[in-house]
Amino acid sequence: MQTEKEGEDDVSPEEYVALSDFTGSGSDQLSFSRGDRLLVHTKPSSEWWWAELQEVKGYVPASYLRKSTAEEEEDVSLEDPWQDEEYFGSYGTLRLHLEMLSDKSRTEAYRQVILSNSASLKNKVVMDLGCGTGIISLFCAQLAQPSLVYAVEASSMADYTRQLVKQNGSEEVVSVLQARAEEIELPERVDVLVSEWMGNSLLFEFMVESVLLARDRWLREGGVMWPSSAALTLVPCQAHSYYDEKMAFWERPYGLDFTPLQPLAQQEFFTKPKFSHLVEPADCLSSPCDVISLDMYTLQIKDLEEIKGQFQFCVEKPGVFHGFTTWFTAHFESLETGSPPVELNTGPHFKPTHWKQTLFMLDNPVSVCAGDSISGSIVLHRNPVWRRHMTITLHWNVNGSTEETENCKANISSTLFFLPYN
Ligand code: SAH
Repeated sequence: MQTEKEGEDDVSPEEYVALSDFTGSGSDQLSFSRGDRLLVHTKPSSEWWWAELQEVKGYVPASYLRKSTAEEEEDVSLEDPWQDEEYFGSYGTLRLHLEMLSDKSRTEAYRQVILSNSASLKNKVVMDLGCGTGIISLFCAQLAQPSLVYAVEASSMADYTRQLVKQNGSEEVVSVLQARAEEIELPERVDVLVSEWMGNSLLFEFMVESVLLARDRWLREGGVMWPSSAALTLVPCQAHSYYDEKMAFWERPYGLDFTPLQPLAQQEFFTKPKFSHLVEPADCLSSPCDVISLDMYTLQIKDLEEIKGQFQFCVEKPGVFHGFTTWFTAHFESLETGSPPVELNTGPHFKPTHWKQTLFMLDNPVSVCAGDSISGSIVLHRNPVWRRHMTITLHWNVNGSTEETENCKANISSTLFFLPYN
């Protein structure tokens, strides 16, 4: 990890202030505390910078730092840690709605939930939190007979949603409220709270916090949550073509040895997750395993700060262990005897959804054999500053060998958080 820092002395380092504590993993990351002043030497990627604290150098996550001038500090305090302007701005355009509505597995799952529970929804009051174009509210109004659906949407799409509700003759039943769910006032509590809040690796964007707040404020005792539970699933996998494209490429381009760029490639391409990855079932080295399960009735907002899971995989065939892939499943409980619960599974054994899967690359690939055991832990650490982001850290070992233990850490954050959908 030395070569890419050559030449750093040519430019004078910039001083940054730590916005919160950070514990580095591995020998090349720095740990620091909130308020520490770090000197940033180079910015090899948008996520990880090469910095110095008390004469020790190492990588630091850029999202934890802010420029230290008085002027900049003022700016930071004015910035919205939820980035709502950007977030709701992106949902005010059609691009994301087109992508979501074109995702048949996703949308049909919600349709199926409403349809298979239509008898139980009769005369019920429903809240559709983050209704977007109103699709779920319209399913409720057209496939069941609720007494009222509160369709809550903070983005400017709500103007159109009102028109769509009217155009489809559902204005008697669906009441569109343009507001953040956190700010609404209703004359009553609701019987059912339905929402499509899931993001990449389940929690990204943390819309789930709005859902939990609405649950505590507006769901009546004994009311129903859809989804009722959700799980994050992990599998160790091969990723030959991604590895070749981003890393092996530097071995001999045009007959030249470009391997000194490999540490930089590792920083730039492998320290953040690859969104929109489709893992082939044949590239999964073992059966997948649910590492985190959320019960939407009992989950608390404070639980979201740090969520931990463990795994132990048994490798089923020889191959190259390049990384881990994650996806999620959402479960919708059935209110009617005889009708099975609906499940939305975004994994590789099902039809791809717009979320696809997320790939986390290891620093170095490891050859594995059938019967090997890959075990370890996963931590989802919510960014203490930017509330829609998180860091996912994976600690793992093969056959319990500490020799091969590596850390795989990825910051799920980007300044444009809707990038994952590109
Ligand atoms: N229910 C729609 C849209 C899902 S996307 C569908 O299934 O197609 C999530 C939507 O929730 C976005 O339109 C976003 O603007 C909205 N949203 C997210 N957080 C919200 C909040 N706190 N209050 C109101 N709307 C919210």
